[in-house]
Order: sequence, then structure tokens, then C-alpha cells
Amino acid sequence: MRILTVVGNRPQFVKAAAVSRPLRERHDELLVHTGQHHDDALSAVFFRELDLPEPDVELALGGGTNLAQTARMIAELEPLVADAGADAVLVYGDTNTTLAAALVAADAGIPLAHVEAGMRSFDRRMPEERNRVVCDHLSQLLLVPTPTAAGNLQREGLGERVVEVGDVMTDITLLVHPRARERAATWLPERDLAAGGYLLVTAHRAGNVDERERLASLVEVLRAVATPERPVVLPLHPRTRARLREHRLWDRLAGEATTAIRLIDPVGPLDFATLLVGAAAVLTDSGGVQKEAYLAGVPCVTLRDTTEWTETVEVGWNVLVDLDPAAAAAALNRSPPADRPELFGDGQAGRRVVAALERAFG
Ligand code: UDP
Repeated sequence: MRILTVVGNRPQFVKAAAVSRPLRERHDELLVHTGQHHDDALSAVFFRELDLPEPDVELALGGGTNLAQTARMIAELEPLVADAGADAVLVYGDTNTTLAAALVAADAGIPLAHVEAGMRSFDRRMPEERNRVVCDHLSQLLLVPTPTAAGNLQREGLGERVVEVGDVMTDITLLVHPRARERAATWLPERDLAAGGYLLVTAHRAGNVDERERLASLVEVLRAVATPERPVVLPLHPRTRARLREHRLWDRLAGEATTAIRLIDPVGPLDFATLLVGAAAVLTDSGGVQKEAYLAGVPCVTLRDTTEWTETVEVGWNVLVDLDPAAAAAALNRSPPADRPELFGDGQAGRRVVAALERAFG
């Protein structure tokens, strides 16, 4: 079997790392990187630290608006997909890369398999939600992480194409978190951080950072929860950094009065896991980080009013506060529940993805 995998950004490198290894034990994989994320901090470090094979084809298609970027990807992917001789195209998640590859595969008449299918926030203002829905409806094989995702697809009439495999990010988390816990004992103090003594924050969703008013609210949330005794550590996504400058909010976040807020560059997956396992709590608008926090047993405060990972909210480990400073502060005062049931699979999702691909296209 020959699989053409298309990835392009940070969370997709993590997910592909779980599948590429078992896939390449028995099959041919052609790995295409669209370059949606292309710098070292958001791309190369993930390939190195997660042992992901070098891409066979590396494009440089970052930047531009969502639609312009997707259009450029479609143009570049079209001949690649046509000439690859692949039995199927494999895509991950919900990005422009996912959408572009899905449209190209459908047009070429090559079967499409979608990992992390069936996720829904039911908020079509999010480009990610539109990308997921279109990709799922074009896919022949829908590889879902949870029963919730399977139920979503059932309701959309796609139940027959669904295989529940567990969550591929769990595979990587189970490998990386033990290493992170081990190194935290020295790594954190070297950076003047104490285990349980800081809040880890990530924020980069377009809906939170592109408009000035929303971004200003995000800054106020962080100022409300950060104290010198419990500082905020914020690895800044390039989009957020750029918007803070553009909207002249940089000083409000990084200024003299806010030494409790530590802005750092984006970090690689091992450093991020180390920051995560040592954090008192996480505040985030990321999808993947909500789940990783749960797997690490770190309470999560989600800076959105919807989530695809509803199970984490239902079991009490995640609270949706949108950009409300009082709600964020209240959520941080809650104690986490005693129970943390297994919601996201057993760490063998990558192998199940390969088995499902073999059954469908082998
Ligand atoms: N991540 C990282 N370094 C950072 C921030 C995030 O390694 O500075 C990792 C994180 O552990 C997770 C993934 O990047 O695996 C999440 O990516 P992101 O938040 O960009 O994407 P989303 O899940 O929101 O689509």
C-alpha cells in the first residue's frame, strides 16, 4: 500500500508522528509538508524531537489569508497527488492544509482518509470548523478519536465510513510526558520556575487575536490571573505576537507593570510538555492543548465559549470561560475532580489507523 500523507502545521506534525512510524513498518509513505508552518520553532523541532521522517516534498506555502493560502496549496498539491500513484491520501485535523489536500484528492478520484474526523465545535465562524466539515464529507475513511466524534458523524449520515481508533495525540503524549516529568526537576528551576507555581498559557485562534477588542480582552484575562507568586508563562505564537504589535497592545502585556507575565518564543514539543506537566493550570484556546492538559492531569481553562473536546468539560477538568477575566479567575480557584477517566484511547491509535487503512485500501 502507498499512502500520500499531507501535513503542514504544528499539531499535524504531532499527530503524524504517531502514524508514520507504524505505517512505514509495512508500507510506503510519501510525506508532503505544505509549509503552512515552516520555521524551526513551529516545524523542524517537531520532526527532530518526535522522530518524524523528513518530508519527501517540502513546499513553502505559509502566509496570506486562509482562502489565498488554501488556493496556493491546491495549485501545488494537484500535480503531486496526480503523479504519486497513491492508494489513498491521508490528512489530519482541521487546517488549510487539510482542506486543500481533501479537495485535491476528491478531484483526482483518490480515496481520502481523515484522522481526527468527527470533531465539532458547532461554531461555523471558526475556519477550523468549516475545514473539518468539508473534509469529513469528502472522506472515504473517517478515523475518529472518541465516541462523541463517531456520534457527530452518525448524525451527518456518515456513520458507515467511521472507524474509532482512539486519539493519536495520546500515543505521543504517553511517550513524551514521562520524559518531561523526569527532566522537569532540573529544567524548571533552571528557568526560575517551581512545579505547581505558574500558569501555562497558549493563545492564537483567529477569533481571539485578530480583532483588537478580543485581543484586548485576552490581555485583560492574563493580567487578571497573573501574580508574581504565580506568574503566567506564555510561549507566543507568531500570529499573536504580530497582532499584539499591530493593535498596540504589546506594552499592556509585556510592560513594566506586568512582570508576572513571561513572554517567551514558541517552544519545541519536549519543552512544552515539561512546562505543561509542571503547571498549576493551563489557559488555552488550542484544541490539542486542552487534551494534553487532561492527559497530564493539569486543570484547563479554555479561552473560548465552545470546544470540540466536550468530554474534558463534562468530567470537570476543563472550564470554558471565553475571555471573561472574572470567570477565568473563578475557574482557577476550583479544585480538580478526584477522577480522571480514560477518554482519549490507550496510546495505540497509530497502529489502529494503519490497520484501518490496510482494510480499506490495502
Ligand atoms: N505546542 C508546542 N509548543 C508551543 C505550543 C504548543 O510544542 O509553544 C504543541 C502542543 O503540545 C500541542 C500542539 O503544539 O501538541 C498544539 O498546537 P496548536 O495549539 O498550535 O494547535 P491546535 O491544537 O490548536 O490546532
